[in-house]
Amino acid sequence: MRFWERYTHDPPVISLEVFPPKDGSSTTVIETVKALSPIQPAFVSVTCSAGGSGSDNTLPIAIELQQQLGVGTVVHVTCGNRSRDDLEEHLREIGSHRHCNIMALRGDPPKGHKDFIPHANGYRYAVELVEHIARINREGSLDGSRCDRFSIGVAGYPEAHPEAPDLTTDLKHLKAKVDAGADFVATQMFFDAQYYIDFVRLARGIGIEVPIVPGVMPVERYPQVMRLLDQMGIGIPDEFRDALEATRDDADTARAVCRDHTIDMCRQLLTAGAPGLHFYTLNKSHATEAVLRALFP
Ligand SMILES: Cc1cc2nc3c(=O)[nH]c(=O)nc-3n(C[C@H](O)[C@H](O)[C@H](O)COP(=O)(O)OP(=O)(O)OC[C@H]3O[C@@H](n4cnc5c(N)ncnc54)[C@H](O)[C@@H]3O)c2cc1C
Repeated sequence: MRFWERYTHDPPVISLEVFPPKDGSSTTVIETVKALSPIQPAFVSVTCSAGGSGSDNTLPIAIELQQQLGVGTVVHVTCGNRSRDDLEEHLREIGSHRHCNIMALRGDPPKGHKDFIPHANGYRYAVELVEHIARINREGSLDGSRCDRFSIGVAGYPEAHPEAPDLTTDLKHLKAKVDAGADFVATQMFFDAQYYIDFVRLARGIGIEVPIVPGVMPVERYPQVMRLLDQMGIGIPDEFRDALEATRDDADTARAVCRDHTIDMCRQLLTAGAPGLHFYTLNKSHATEAVLRALFP
């Protein structure tokens, strides 16, 4: 069974997301996943830098995770800074290590830029990368890859991608990624389960049938939440904002408020039929662990 098929056959599927640290070391990532291994995550996804320059540590970290901890991985691939040939070569390298699960993304605009800048011979939208991988899957044409087929995940945005004019348009673009061959959707984080519930209903309404797994970030601090709201263009329920504001000068209470909110939201998501929970760990185990311990005592 491919791992994403577990969303249908064996829910809820718990997965983790980590990022390659800037200093090139993998220690915090390995320690984070090791600390969370009692929950037996179905997979760990490893992000890559927005530029996709190839200098980041995504694949080496995925390899280390699999070799040291025996955990399945999803390798993120972005379009920025890469020509189609570079992307093909990168996929070949990923496949040569038998890492066959790809999160296919466009990537954010480079730091200091408002707009995404595609490579002159690259892709402007993630859908084109999905088409590229799906062609490889169809033709089985990637010499050196040890994957008979790449599984493909794509990003979805319950509150619409910040560059999209509206959610309806953004959902049409999500449908194009699924029609091109995506096997599952992982969502942007949010602070209100209702956004996810409405998003799934709308997605199903336009014929998106693949699993849609909610992305959950177990936040811990008032300034962290405020920064995320600003960066991601996402909303926050009044009740959670008020409770958090009251804890500005009290880190312990802030942690407890955040944890309780995340636990409550996860329960709502699972009750609503979410096929799993994808945790943005930020390379720290304790907040995710506290939530999981409460959900699955
Ligand atoms: C689960 C998840 C994991 C992520 N991991 C990473 C990571 O590892 N590294 C990283 O750099 N970033 C990551 N991101 C962030 C992501 O790269 C950014 O949000 C980026 O701005 C958009 O990427 P996308 O793949 O959603 O792009 P797209 O699907 O290409 O969408 C980008 C924008 O273009 C619009 N659009 C799409 N197709 C068309 C079209 N044909 N015509 C007009 N408009 C169109 C969409 O509506 C949207 O507004 C992740 C996001 C999520 C939700």
